[in-house]
Amino acid sequence: MSDTLQRFLFENANIRGELVQLDASWQAALAHHDYPQSVREPLGEMLVAAVLLTATMKFEGNISLQVRGNGPITMLVVDCTPRRVEGEEGALYHIRGMALWQGEVPEGDLRSRFGDGSLVITIYPGTGGQRYQGVVALSGHSLADAIDDYLERSEQLPTRMWLRCSGERAAGMLLQKLPASGGEEDADGWERVNALAATVRDEELLQLGQGELIHRLFHEEDLRLFAPEPVAFHCHCSRQRVADSLRGLGRDEVMGILKKEQKIEVSCHFCNRHYRFDAVDAAQLFIEPPPPPARGVPH
Ligand SMILES: [Zn+2]
Repeated sequence: MSDTLQRFLFENANIRGELVQLDASWQAALAHHDYPQSVREPLGEMLVAAVLLTATMKFEGNISLQVRGNGPITMLVVDCTPRRVEGEEGALYHIRGMALWQGEVPEGDLRSRFGDGSLVITIYPGTGGQRYQGVVALSGHSLADAIDDYLERSEQLPTRMWLRCSGERAAGMLLQKLPASGGEEDADGWERVNALAATVRDEELLQLGQGELIHRLFHEEDLRLFAPEPVAFHCHCSRQRVADSLRGLGRDEVMGILKKEQKIEVSCHFCNRHYRFDAVDAAQLFIEPPPPPARGVPH
């Protein structure tokens, strides 16, 4: 099943596992963009990473991953927002993402695509929580290396990620060692499960059904499978959010643009929705008292 997150647990070894495969949601993220293959790959991998990381956390907020660099890909940003579904155990994961690039983007390691870059992970824990942000220099060969490196430095639980994107589909797997439960310790569990996972081939991760893939990799392990959870492309931009950012620019700036262009047109980088403000709309922006800022989720 595509566009699904499958969570599982290695009962005795106390290890969390997750698999995600993106198909329609990934195609929706590509619509309206003419990304070359060398940009599609890291974008697909980051979307997968955002879902995998979000699913390890117990909160109602949102995770955003952003890479900025001085190389051909100048910015890549993705976010994932879990939505609880009434009466269901799991969540629906909303994803969106976009990349900006210039010139020719070579295939190859992180450095050749992003130059000197850094990865910024921002966690918005939802109502009432404190925003958390971590930054790590892009290192290693792949984005999975960079994220593993970040998780290790931030003293999180030991975590390993596999991320793949063929251009047509994107998929990934995560293993995470949970704190000891106090029961009988499966001492070599983490090494053993990692060695099994490391035998996964790209085409298996991208193409095999999740049940089949889990069986192929871990059939000798004692596993508990959770109900599959859906993933969908969804952009939470709105006219209200655009109005808020125009207000943020200030009256002089907005009126300056209006004088030159007669109207203000803003397109969302994620979903390409267009927002248009004429002179009357623009004047309204600075008359109405601004509503309290939306909490928890960036626009
Ligand atoms: Zn949008």
